Amino acid sequence: MDFRAILEEIYTEAKALPAIGTVASTIPELAKINPDKFGMHLTTIDGQDFGIGDSEEKFSIQSVSKALTVAYAFSILGEKVWERVGVEPSGNPFNSLVQLEYEKGIPRNPFINAGALVIADILITHLKNPKQELLNFIRTLSGFETINFNEEVAKSEKDTGFRNAALCNFLKSFGNIHNDVDEVLDFYFHQCSLEMTCKELAHSFFFFANEGKTRNGNQILSQSQVKRLNALMQTCGFYDESGEFTYRVGLPGKSGIGGGIGALFPKNFAVATWSPRLNEKGNSELGMYALEQLTTKTGMSIF
Ligand code: GLN
Repeated sequence: MDFRAILEEIYTEAKALPAIGTVASTIPELAKINPDKFGMHLTTIDGQDFGIGDSEEKFSIQSVSKALTVAYAFSILGEKVWERVGVEPSGNPFNSLVQLEYEKGIPRNPFINAGALVIADILITHLKNPKQELLNFIRTLSGFETINFNEEVAKSEKDTGFRNAALCNFLKSFGNIHNDVDEVLDFYFHQCSLEMTCKELAHSFFFFANEGKTRNGNQILSQSQVKRLNALMQTCGFYDESGEFTYRVGLPGKSGIGGGIGALFPKNFAVATWSPRLNEKGNSELGMYALEQLTTKTGMSIF
């Protein structure tokens, strides 16, 4: 498969499309990003590795980080993680509060904000230096020591994160946050502020495609555990647009309001896209288009 030619074709086609969607406005620092950036990087199990466009430029991975934090929590706690967060699609926006009340503070899945806050709480309980150890984990996953938080983005979200504060307090009222609310929010805002290039993100997602093993050969999760997280990304990775992403793209993946998407084809490749213009569900318009083209042109999807 000549992936390079296919990526170049997708890039040319994508660049010719009319610009649709708007840059995230809920976090002031993110609203400053050039909306017309577009990059894509693909890395295969058999060693092909290349990107196009702005694939080497850092962006805020935001909720894509939720796939990595749940992997970390799963590696520490195993199946016990699911005692505090579910594995069902929510059918609601990422920052919704409504289901929490009648589900007694157990978020539907780890990819909506409520679920990610519980995962953050679990990590804080189990780690001595939570933020530093998260960075170390992500550097191990990706093989890049250069990955860091963006303190301005974290602060910008903290200053405006009233809904996340509401979610965290609500969860705490049900007893599903064990640590201090401010500490959990601080960790969560930092994980969302992680910056990566498409290349770094694709490499970070490699272990999801490679039966739990990173590009550098570190076994992070078992084959069965990775199957479970891929299933979760497939069913819940795009919130109330997970069905649409599955229908159009047919790969497990995770989006973020920074415009990034990480996706993978088990036993074949991991891929990352970045385009900051979002649709009304908070997912990258062009990123979804590019991935739809990738699976359509290659015929490589899990379906
Ligand atoms: N930091 C963002 C928030 O909590 C992440 C949301 C997202 O990327 N969908 O609102």
